[in-house]
Amino acid sequence: MYNWMDNIESSRLKELILSSNEVLYQYFDNIDTIIENNQYKVLKAFKENNITEGHLWGSTGYGYGDLGRDGLDRLYASIFNTEAGLVRQQFVSGTHCLSSCLFGILNPKDHFMYITGKPYDTLEKTIGIVEHPKSLISQGIEYNHVDLLPDGNFDIESIKNSIKPSTKMIAIQRSKGYSLNRSIDIAKMKSIVDFIKNTKKDIVIFVDNCYGEFTECLEPTDVGVDIMAGSLIKNPGGGLALTGGYVVGRKDLVKKVAEQLTAPGLGNEVGASLNNNLPFYQGIFLAPKVVGDSLKSSIYAAFIAKELGFDTHPKHEDLRTDIVQGIIFNNEKSLIKFCQGIQHNSPIDSFATPVPDQLPGYQVPVIMAAGTFIQGASIELSADAPIKTPYIGYLQGSLTFQHGKIAISMAFDKMLKDS
Ligand SMILES: *Cc1c(COP(=O)(O)O)cnc(C)c1O
Repeated sequence: MYNWMDNIESSRLKELILSSNEVLYQYFDNIDTIIENNQYKVLKAFKENNITEGHLWGSTGYGYGDLGRDGLDRLYASIFNTEAGLVRQQFVSGTHCLSSCLFGILNPKDHFMYITGKPYDTLEKTIGIVEHPKSLISQGIEYNHVDLLPDGNFDIESIKNSIKPSTKMIAIQRSKGYSLNRSIDIAKMKSIVDFIKNTKKDIVIFVDNCYGEFTECLEPTDVGVDIMAGSLIKNPGGGLALTGGYVVGRKDLVKKVAEQLTAPGLGNEVGASLNNNLPFYQGIFLAPKVVGDSLKSSIYAAFIAKELGFDTHPKHEDLRTDIVQGIIFNNEKSLIKFCQGIQHNSPIDSFATPVPDQLPGYQVPVIMAAGTFIQGASIELSADAPIKTPYIGYLQGSLTFQHGKIAISMAFDKMLKDS
């Protein structure tokens, strides 16, 4: 019989792959429970909103009365348990979507802060952490951030001391992103939301939910978050959405974001969906399973890496609230070989060999493995790493666990062979 594992050269690795089933079974079982519950939640939303074939087709021009677009807004609102949703291909990326939330809601003289440390790199110019004439700070909005404590918990004392009468918004980044911080799981999210609401009731709590959707049975908006946003070429697009972003939350807030995206007075009532509604509906329907498979791939990678002597973050047994897996290679060569192995075992551009290079916005060279169907889609298997000590590779996504398992195994095999 044909066995793909015959292609693994290292006998030590082969043994590890075989033993992984037994060790990881309990964690995968837990993921299956999360998938089931999220699948139920998504199905229930389709039923409640009477989604029908007419929703799957789009509109042109202004997009007035676009049934599919409006249905998708309601579907997301139901899934995420909010008053309103805004799901748009006109959001060009996650950054655009998050930026629209900040600019839509904040006004000059308002104060806002991030309480999960410095936000995701791509927001630096939006906020004005890196100077920009169009940044929030340049428009007269006051900003600061509070770091997480070394143990990964919120720095309650500093947060309390930073809140003032003008504090309009507190922002939380759920995923650690590309750092060794801890991600904010839903239990932790709930306790900080309760604390903020008890301290100053009218503060808008905003969550960057990128990489977090469907990794747990509840979402930030289930525990009192006012508004949250994410990218459709990550978790909720299910690998099928071709581009876009979503915002869900309080109706008055989502309206402001819609008017920021389009124009005052236009809001959510325009924006042709063309013929792109079908993959958005299919994508969100498949998303719980795709995210679950991505989580399994991350857990698998963490286990194999640990057995090969590398520290990982999180560890295979840790509770997860996003799909990102950090592997600490401690040497440049292993990191590069691993990333190249991921690329060589991707469906698209498997013949390409990525090398570290300078990228705008980064201080050090970066290597990126992304053999994805959709450009930059990190719900598909991908790996990125800034080339600096301690040589951490960040791995995420996989449309199926089977692809994740095969590609991760082959990548480690390449690394073992060549280093
Ligand atoms: C991906 C991501 C973003 C937005 O990134 P884009 O590349 O602009 O889509 C923002 N925050 C976090 C935590 C992310 O993972």
